[in-house]
Amino acid sequence: MDFAEQVKSSVDIVKTIEQYVRLKKAGGSPRYTGLCPFHVEKTPSFSVHSSHQFYYCFGCGARGDLF
Ligand SMILES: [Zn+2]
Repeated sequence: MDFAEQVKSSVDIVKTIEQYVRLKKAGGSPRYTGLCPFHVEKTPSFSVHSSHQFYYCFGCGARGDLF
């Protein structure tokens, strides 16, 4: 099972992605940021929105959700 399938099959997108990426909660918002699992980077441009259950990377444009 690859990363995208793993995310799709999970109930909570944040918990699933946390198994691969160290996520940091953005203060006050239901948004998490971390290093992108799809490309190599030194500054976190990968964000996960727990309320909308989707992820998006500003660095490489990777995106997805549970559906
Ligand atoms: Zn990326």
